[in-house]
Amino acid sequence: MTDLTFDHLYPYAELTDAIHGLAAAHPDLLEVVTAGQSHEGRDIWLATITNRATGPHDEKPALFVEANIHATEITASTAALHLIHHLVTGFGTDDAVTRALDTRCFYVIPRLNPDGVEMALADPPKFLRSSTRIYPRPDQQPGLVEQDIDGDGRVLTMRVADANGAWKIHPDDARLLVPRALDEDGPGEYYRLLPEGTIHEYDGVLVPIAPEQRSLDLNRNFPQEWLPEGSQQGAGPFPTSEPEVRTLVETVVARPNICAYIAYHTFSGVILRPYGGYPDDHYPTADLRSYQALGKRATEITGYQAVSVFHDFKYDPKTSITGASDEWAYDHLGIFSWTTEFWSPITAAGITDFKYIDWFDEHPVEDDLRLLRWNDETLDGAGFVDWYPFDHPQLGRVEIGGWDFFRTWTNAPPSLMAAEVAPHSEWAVAHQLASPLLAVRAFTADPLGNGLWRLRLVVENTGWLPTNVSAKALERKAVRPVEAEIELPDGASLVLGDPRQELGQLAGHARARQMLAMFDGGFDSTEDRAKAEWVVHAAAGTTITVTVRHSRAGTTRATLTLP
Ligand SMILES: [Zn+2]
Repeated sequence: MTDLTFDHLYPYAELTDAIHGLAAAHPDLLEVVTAGQSHEGRDIWLATITNRATGPHDEKPALFVEANIHATEITASTAALHLIHHLVTGFGTDDAVTRALDTRCFYVIPRLNPDGVEMALADPPKFLRSSTRIYPRPDQQPGLVEQDIDGDGRVLTMRVADANGAWKIHPDDARLLVPRALDEDGPGEYYRLLPEGTIHEYDGVLVPIAPEQRSLDLNRNFPQEWLPEGSQQGAGPFPTSEPEVRTLVETVVARPNICAYIAYHTFSGVILRPYGGYPDDHYPTADLRSYQALGKRATEITGYQAVSVFHDFKYDPKTSITGASDEWAYDHLGIFSWTTEFWSPITAAGITDFKYIDWFDEHPVEDDLRLLRWNDETLDGAGFVDWYPFDHPQLGRVEIGGWDFFRTWTNAPPSLMAAEVAPHSEWAVAHQLASPLLAVRAFTADPLGNGLWRLRLVVENTGWLPTNVSAKALERKAVRPVEAEIELPDGASLVLGDPRQELGQLAGHARARQMLAMFDGGFDSTEDRAKAEWVVHAAAGTTITVTVRHSRAGTTRATLTLP
């Protein structure tokens, strides 16, 4: 069951078999449980991956991945499955993976929205934004409803010849439709472009695009800056109202060892970070520095730029999206969080230096021609369907064709999928190896005479991030200090010192800057280290244990036997 391939979109049953098969083959590394149920009652799988021989998952710093909250972005699930596979098969041979599973833990929800995906992969397919729950109105409103009308399993575009159309055929490639020029007045050969579908309550004249009956967007249903429908479309009736989101939020909150969070989506070939609504100076300075350093590493490994949504990925310059999972994870929990938008046909076609969202409003026609060439040469023409006639039951003779958006834009084409997702599994491991990690540097006993001993424990954070992970976590009171607790056997007694001592937060290697500077922040002293001391009365040969724990930096223990 390790011969999985990452070149296709997994239906739910196959995905379920794949992760359970991996768990059966690697029981010491991978456990799969149900985290909750979807709207239609499907299990939402949660994979926990760590080397159990070196400690339980909840005593190790964790990285959390959620995939496929959006119904058609199914490449995200393939990527999540790739990550799980990369971890369990790389253990013991890949040094980074081995280290990550020995010292840390991964939680992966490979498909948060199984219902929406089943609709997208059905025959005929139905493409939703997210949940299959009908919302906000129970009835179908009039207008064009997108669907596969000729039964070929695809939902494409209809072009309708119309003297008042806004599109015309490009002279260099008859498949390409481009906007009519602003001074191109009067009749001619023009077209109207409509989604493939039929018109509900057609009056013979008007063809509005009907609002989708299932218009929830689960990634607007999270608590951070949640807004009602009138302000944020698809947000649902209240934060975490939807079972998928409630499951996700409860899963994350119940695992306070999570230090990092990646949401897998498609598409654009970019890694996004908060905020959507605020510029970068909204961050505590330390957090912005960490985000930039982590993002730089992400780019080195994956080739994707790591950008702020506010600065580089706004759908509309005047509005910002609220209620998204990554913003909730960072802003409420103080966890470094990202949204990976896998795959970009634009990049694949060799177009560089484009703005992710703006490109769709405005770009040179050479880009379109280039994309068609890429389709012909790299995809053997599979991504773009040349226009073919169809007798539409309501509109009469139309043509159907254009980009197969679902298979070529929203998702990576099969031949390119594995190579696209693979580097991101490495990036998840690298991110995880940057998390804080508690270690005992020394645990010693000095004799004071008369059966008295002074015990000294020195602990340190050996990770890159501080134990609190972010400054935001401290601001939100989302983390507690490092604790050291002593356990004495019968016959031994504590003379001085609290049995449980709080040792504050410990800095990580991130404290080092590019160059040792003479001004503020140049030297790092020993902020990564702390000590605890006790005086005990105990007989020679007594064994004493201390437990050091931090919700994010893990739990470690040390034992000594008095001489
Ligand atoms: Zn998405």
